[in-house]
Amino acid sequence: MILKYEVGDRVTLKKGHPCGENNWEISRTGVDIKLKCLGCERQIWLTRIEFEKRVRKIYDQEKDKMVSIVHYRQDEE
Ligand SMILES: [Zn+2]
Repeated sequence: MILKYEVGDRVTLKKGHPCGENNWEISRTGVDIKLKCLGCERQIWLTRIEFEKRVRKIYDQEKDKMVSIVHYRQDEE
């Protein structure tokens, strides 16, 4: 299954940032994904594979809430 992540999407990871925050915003997509910590604004790079292993929830605009990545955008099929 190919998931589409877009710049501006908000996600949570399995492990939060050391600053205590676990809300991230995607600021770049591609082979590598750039995430911005919404707590301290620091940015990290993850490979897409690493990102997909670590991402847990994503903000679903239609449902207006954080949803588990497993259920994200499956309805479109
Ligand atoms: Zn942080």
